Amino acid sequence: MRKKVAILGSTGSIGCNTLQVIEALHPAYEVIALSANSNADLLARQAKQFKPQYVAITGDAHYAALKDELSGFEGQLLSGAESLVDLASLDEVDIVVCAVVGAAGLPAALAAAKAGKTVAIANKEPLVIAGELLTTAARESGAVLLPIDSEHSAVFQAMQAGQPDEVRKIILTASGGPFRNASLDEMNQATIEQALAHPTWEMGPKITIDSATMMNKALEVIEAVWLFGMPVEKIDVLIHPESIVHSMVEFIDGSVIAQLGTPDMKVPIQYALTWPKRVKGIAEGLQLHQLGQLNFEPPDLGRFKALALGFEVAKTSGSAPVVFNAANEAAVAAFLDGHIRFGQIVELIDHCLQIHSVQSHLTLEALLEIDAWARRQVQKQLSQKTTVN
Ligand code: MG
Repeated sequence: MRKKVAILGSTGSIGCNTLQVIEALHPAYEVIALSANSNADLLARQAKQFKPQYVAITGDAHYAALKDELSGFEGQLLSGAESLVDLASLDEVDIVVCAVVGAAGLPAALAAAKAGKTVAIANKEPLVIAGELLTTAARESGAVLLPIDSEHSAVFQAMQAGQPDEVRKIILTASGGPFRNASLDEMNQATIEQALAHPTWEMGPKITIDSATMMNKALEVIEAVWLFGMPVEKIDVLIHPESIVHSMVEFIDGSVIAQLGTPDMKVPIQYALTWPKRVKGIAEGLQLHQLGQLNFEPPDLGRFKALALGFEVAKTSGSAPVVFNAANEAAVAAFLDGHIRFGQIVELIDHCLQIHSVQSHLTLEALLEIDAWARRQVQKQLSQKTTVN
């Protein structure tokens, strides 16, 4: 039986890697649905190659271009943000790969969990914003949530060496990004080019900026809380510049189980697709003798304020992670547009958290309202402040 896959966000870095993995696993996997936000050209090329039954573009403005490029296409063409929810709950789909950037992918991830799918989660936002809703929906429907995020895939793999109640600590590794050794002052004034120059991983611009602030790791701490049902007190972050040890689990007997590999997203993507089995992969093997040494150091929470905030937000929980994530998305967009300094990203996030009154046990609608509120607060700050320099 061929496994049937829907890829939400197929033109991004994770989406493209997923298609490469599926191509290599041919004929065991079949692409049923593809979606993109705006890249009609690449989406059309993917559709021609993989011949899915459904192709969706969420940005309505790009629908005409997609239709044009796919004239004669035999499947269904969809447009609009709601189309993701339809694709995520298609009867014929077994696995939904959620790789939509930002909070936009949340309703679809939730729909996939409610529909009892295997949900391979590459974007952290669904678990960060709606961890409670998503894990509850999965429990009720029997859906399986599998991580594609490399650190969480590593933890998930290491977890198989013991039982959840035998875990002493989850240790998430972080490369430290381009500013690992920069001073606070250098970081505050960093340019877009400097922030986008990630030393080990090749990723999309939003997540690359998140790695530079270490916001990415902060979101991953919250993600791990929900994915593994662990209190934040049991989650640690360790800087590991080589990005070879993708994360570790320390068990109560003192054993530490780590997952290692070259920094290539095709490994965690393939594991999420083939779990609980392993099959031959296309990623390069690890040559540890060529690396010679692996380094580890504790993160500097004084310089990486986003990470310090992340631990606090994970402890507070409720609606705090929603504000934390939404304010960051808005602030990163402002930074990439050249409106604010690098250092202002975390200042804006902190401001939104300060003025927010935390609420708990929220519906999806309420979460999305708080998400929108936080974005508006960032815009308000931006219009009040003099920007760059
Ligand atoms: Mg990661």
